[in-house]
Order: sequence, then structure tokens, then C-alpha cells
Amino acid sequence: KLFNQVQEAKGNIRVFCRCRPLSKAETLAGCSMVVDFDTAKDGELGIQNSGSTKKTFKFDRVYTPKDDQVDVFADTSPMVTSVLDGYNVCIFAYGQTGTGKTFTMEGTVAERGVNYRTLEELFKISRERSETSKYNISVSVLEVYNEQIRDLLDTSSSSKKLEIKQAPEGFHHIPGLVEAEVKNIDQVWAVLQTGSSARAVGSNNVNEHSSRSHCILCVTVKAENLINGERTKSKLWLVDLAGSERLGKTDAQGDRLKEAQNINKSLSALGDVISALANKSGHIPFRNSKLTHLLQDSLGGDSKTLMFVQISPSEKDLSETLSSLNFATRVR
Ligand code: ADP
Ligand code: MG
Repeated sequence: KLFNQVQEAKGNIRVFCRCRPLSKAETLAGCSMVVDFDTAKDGELGIQNSGSTKKTFKFDRVYTPKDDQVDVFADTSPMVTSVLDGYNVCIFAYGQTGTGKTFTMEGTVAERGVNYRTLEELFKISRERSETSKYNISVSVLEVYNEQIRDLLDTSSSSKKLEIKQAPEGFHHIPGLVEAEVKNIDQVWAVLQTGSSARAVGSNNVNEHSSRSHCILCVTVKAENLINGERTKSKLWLVDLAGSERLGKTDAQGDRLKEAQNINKSLSALGDVISALANKSGHIPFRNSKLTHLLQDSLGGDSKTLMFVQISPSEKDLSETLSSLNFATRVR
């Protein structure tokens, strides 16, 4: 309740910055840290560039390498669970490859990320409210690669082309997209496994492929208020974005160049849309990328948006870190 009041006062877009720890290899190689967390409690983060003065960035939250999945979910949970109250919600993980986007969203079996914890929480709350509300929860798993949408739950061999259509009532949808109804967290886990194995098909390196595509978990909640009969339908999008790093000179050709151009195009389109919403601009350029077009109904209005900006603490990543922090500052 309090969170929602705070939300309304400051708009519906929040930016959380999370810095991963130095990896073992970086520690062994003696990499230095360029990020300081002296005022992380106030949502501030300092970048100490050798020689020059310290540059400070401000966010709604800053997570240091010591903060764990529980700390992160504690702040995320009120926002994601508002989907049960009829709000549309989008959560994005943005950043250079290797900074922890997938760790934050998917996590591991030992350290579950936002996706798993969210579904777990949705089931828990829906059980608690079973006297007054009835919920139907379904999930879709998709990928946007080179501006093409792929349904990762569609096990039929026909690789039908997915297109975004606008229904006469105005809302956007993808005809034919699989929506798997889930009744408990084990069913969710099974669905997520299906999604991951589909992602692997046709790519010789799964990690590389997934860092060049946007991986999307879409949760649809249909709610019925058993007291007044009111029905709502809302969506929660959990998006592990493609890596934001710029292309190395040696890769600037062929398929890699095309991929990089598509990633660049869709990440800038996302930045443009969120900053237009934050600035209450009249025209919101949703149509400039598949991702923003797809999420159109869940961005803006009374929808809630959270962006995790993931960064590396290491000096060698400084220029990408600055570029991510600048991106994040623009959307806030
Ligand atoms: P990305 O998806 O952005 O490419 P990953 O999520 O794959 O990055 O993270 C890269 C590596 O760093 C993984 O081995 C991951 O487990 C580790 N890592 C990332 N963030 C954290 C963190 N906050 N704490 C511990 N390990 C992390
Ligand atoms: Mg990843």
C-alpha cells in the first residue's frame, strides 16, 4: 500500500542498479574496482576513473556485490505482485554481457532469481486471497532475435511466423502464441525448462545466442473478484535483454553486424520509449522495435516499469559501465 503511494508520487518508472562481484578470474588477474558504494544506501553509486574526479550516479536503489537475491526481491516483490491487482508490469534487465542480467532474472537453482520468486509469490498471495478472489495464471516464453519473435513453448515443428496484431478493442496480442496455464511453481519450472531447451535448438552456443536475443517470460493473470464479480486481465513481462555492449571492430561484418544493429536498434527504441514516458511526452514511439511494440499495452498509463541496470565493477569494463549508467540515467 505504502509502496503504491510512493509509486504514484514519483511516477511509475523505477531504475535499480546492481553491480556484480569481481569474478575469481578478475580477482586473480588483479583487476581493480572502479565502482564505489559509500552512499549506496541513498541510491548513489560512484565511478572512480583513474586520475579524474569521481562521477556520481543516482538511482532508486543501488545493490552492491554483497546484496543477494533475497535483498533484490524484497524491493521488487511489491511491484510484481501488483499484477494481481490488475496492473500491467514490465521488468527489464539491461547491461553488458556478463554483468548478471540472467543471474538477476533467472538466477540458479541455489540462488533463484526474480522470475522464479515472482511466480512463487503470485501463487502464495493467490492462495491467501482464495476466499475473495479467483486467479488464473498462465505463462508464455518467447524470444526476440533479429527483430523476429519466436515462441519457445511451441513444440510443433511448423515454425510459424509470429506477428503482433491489434485487436478491435485496441489491445495488442500475438495470435497463436502458446499460453501455458500454471497452477503451482513446479509447473512453472517445467515450462521454463521447455523454454530453455527450445532456445538451444538451432544455436551452437546457447549462452552466446541468449545474450544476443531478448528473452521474455510473460505472465498473464486473469482475476475474478468473487464478491462483486469484477474481472480483470493483466500482464507481467520479465525481460532479460540482449547484451548492450558495442561490437568489437573484428566482428563488424556479416551476421554479427546484423545482430548488433538489431540489438542496438531495439535497445535504443526501448530507451526512447521509457524516457518519453518518464518525460510525459505526447508521442511515444512504440512502433520502432518489435520489443516496444509487443509491450505497448504494458508500458505507460498506470503500468509499472522497473529497469535493472547491471554493471561490472572492473576497470576493464569501465567504458561499457559508463555507457549503461548513462542509458539508465536517461530513462529515469
Ligand atoms: P549476463 O546475463 O548479463 O550475461 P550472467 O547472469 O550470465 O550475465 O552473469 C555472469 C556471471 O556472473 C555468472 O557466472 C553469474 O553467476 C555471475 N554473477 C552475476 N551477478 C552475480 C551476483 N550478483 N553475485 C554472484 N555472481 C554473479
Ligand atoms: Mg545472460
